[in-house]
Amino acid sequence: MTEHVDVLIIGAGLSGIGAACHLEERLPGTSYLVLEARRAMGGTWDLFRYPGIRSDSDMFTLGYRFRPWTGEKAMADGPSILSYVRETAREHGVDDKIRYGLRGERAEWSTDEATWTVHARRDGEPVTFTCGFLWSCSGYYSYDAGHAPHFDGVADFTSAGGTVVHPQQWPEHLDHAGKRIIVIGSGATAVTLVPALARGDGAAAHVTMLQRSPTYVLSLPGIDRVAVALRERLPAKAAYAVTRWKNVLVTTASYQLSRRHPKLMKKLIRKAVVARLPEGYDVDRHFRPAYDPWDQRLCLVPDGDLFQVIREGRADVVTDHVDTFTSTGIRLVTGAELEADVVVTATGLSLLAFGGITMVVDGAEVRLPDTMAYKGMMLSGVPNFGYVIGYTNASWTLKADLVSEYVCRLLSHMRDRGYRVVVPERDPEVSEEPFMDFASGYVQRSLHLLPKQGDRAPWRLRHNYLRDAVTIRRGGIEDGRLRFSAGRQTAGRPPSRCPGRTAPTGSSPGVPRPPEPLAEQRHQRRHQHAAHQQGVEQHAEPDDDADLGEGDQRQHAEDREHRSQQDAGARDHPAGHRERRRDRRAGVGGGGLLAGPGGQEDVVVDAECDQEQEAEQGDVQVQRREPEPVREGEPAGAQARAERRHHGEHQDDRSDDGPEQQEQHQEHDDQDQRDDHPLVVERGVPGVQALRVGTAHE
Ligand SMILES: Cc1cc2nc3c(=O)[nH]c(=O)nc-3n(C[C@H](O)[C@H](O)[C@H](O)COP(=O)(O)OP(=O)(O)OC[C@H]3O[C@@H](n4cnc5c(N)ncnc54)[C@H](O)[C@@H]3O)c2cc1C
Repeated sequence: MTEHVDVLIIGAGLSGIGAACHLEERLPGTSYLVLEARRAMGGTWDLFRYPGIRSDSDMFTLGYRFRPWTGEKAMADGPSILSYVRETAREHGVDDKIRYGLRGERAEWSTDEATWTVHARRDGEPVTFTCGFLWSCSGYYSYDAGHAPHFDGVADFTSAGGTVVHPQQWPEHLDHAGKRIIVIGSGATAVTLVPALARGDGAAAHVTMLQRSPTYVLSLPGIDRVAVALRERLPAKAAYAVTRWKNVLVTTASYQLSRRHPKLMKKLIRKAVVARLPEGYDVDRHFRPAYDPWDQRLCLVPDGDLFQVIREGRADVVTDHVDTFTSTGIRLVTGAELEADVVVTATGLSLLAFGGITMVVDGAEVRLPDTMAYKGMMLSGVPNFGYVIGYTNASWTLKADLVSEYVCRLLSHMRDRGYRVVVPERDPEVSEEPFMDFASGYVQRSLHLLPKQGDRAPWRLRHNYLRDAVTIRRGGIEDGRLRFSAGRQTAGRPPSRCPGRTAPTGSSPGVPRPPEPLAEQRHQRRHQHAAHQQGVEQHAEPDDDADLGEGDQRQHAEDREHRSQQDAGARDHPAGHRERRRDRRAGVGGGGLLAGPGGQEDVVVDAECDQEQEAEQGDVQVQRREPEPVREGEPAGAQARAERRHHGEHQDDRSDDGPEQQEQHQEHDDQDQRDDHPLVVERGVPGVQALRVGTAHE
């Protein structure tokens, strides 16, 4: 049987769990499911099991905005992050909405039905779902295998008893104690693994980090003293919020400093590295990259652990290229030989966009390179679809939370206005740019797999949390680039939307929320109202408009006008007025998630339901209001307004990109010219996380 939900989330990792929590909090009553291909939640933090696995950005920004990170360490170990994700899911009642072992394969959108049909597979058996809104939280890399470039002679090495492992598939029982280990790579995984393998109970005899080229490595305190002090003085939530903002500002400042004054930043980093390594160490050979800081990600190491094991002689760094594996280890291009019992290929991840799901819109397969990313969370021409992909220069969750907030606002907005379909429409005046700002040859060759970004807002991916926190969190929904419509009209009057009463059936996204006891609805409304008071608002109030662009301010004015029209219309219906205001403030309407064919009727339905139920108890006489007719394609006149705005202002917000930004990846071509490997994505933007499309640098 095909199951229908309002929202179908793909992936139960950090992003999918966060998305579900936002739905629970902001749009209670929304029906949703989370499809998870694996048998466990947690995504990355459940998959990776290599020694020392930890975050490489701070947990105060990698943690959810809505749930404080209370752990000791600023850069936490993998199991602690996994527990945090699981506890969050449990606390928010999300865990029983996850369907495990189901891999989404194909998603087909029908505009007539305003519905996605998602084909998944469990143990080879097809399973189908339908939904009104599809939300991809499937990460950015393939879970099947990491990137494994070809090396000559591997068979000679393994047949002589050597072991080769990839960090993504770390063998549970690998005993590395007393072994000679080579870690190929210089990325976040390599700099995490080297000290973890070289120290502690099962320490290796020696660890060599073999890299083709150096990476910037910075030491950060493992424990954030400011966070500790704040926790002693403030309630947990307040301490978390302050620490989070502190880290956002520090990270942003360090990024901006790097982009604007790369020479100064290089100098500062070098000085810090020299101070941590033994006298006479060849810092420039092993720790001075050919590129500027943030051309590629920086690697963060807590309390300088990597430098410490080098200092202690437990580990060393070799900067050279692999010629071939031999029966005893690896021969380098320079002729040197490294002996090893175990070789770890920390050579990166394989990119997989949107969980590898093929998307089809009204019979036509979506070619991702033909699409343009809207606000870094939707795709042009792909209706009722959102996705989470984190920042390249800050913690993933900062963006994931913003996307979740936006999607909830968008869905609420649609329901309030009777829209069932939303699609970002490309503007022919906006020029295409690569999805990622990397100019190297290998990236250029691989970008055919990805959507485009545009040369101006809202199509340009800014990777700037501070800016997004204003424009995504507070900006108007109808910015002229999103086309809304009411979808197909259904003849006749919709059946009662009252919870517990006859519900419409079918696969429309306007399907009503499941029956709930009246008391529960009231509790939810109170909860929503409280959430509103805490600043979870659907609309910015006048004072907030000051920091918004002209388009957003106009949108807010229109929103206010729309609300006052609604309120005026309700004056002859006091109960409806009261309920409508409550629902509007809480960002929820009646019936289903997205408005059904009855359009505006959804807005008043809860008031009617309360009246109907109260009438049954003898309190109130029911006066059912007929829904206002909604003309297809022009609900509430908003479509027309959107189209008018479509030709309005285009804010070219490239102005703060320094000229050096376009030049900075050139030097990477040198590193990569030997590299014919397929696209891989290297994770890890230390301290500030980077989604990095690259080749085998790790
Ligand atoms: C080792 C490592 C360390 C990292 N450290 C940091 C860090 O410190 N800071 C940071 O900001 N980022 C870090 N990242 C990036 C990290 O991936 C993100 O921070 C975050 O965990 C991503 O969460 P996600 O839920 O979006 O994706 P994932 O964690 O990848 O989860 C995606 C989930 O979707 C499921 N899925 C995928 N496709 C389908 C499908 N077709 N059908 C059903 N289910 C599907 C997967 O099984 C998985 O459970 C790291 C990445 C790695 C690999």
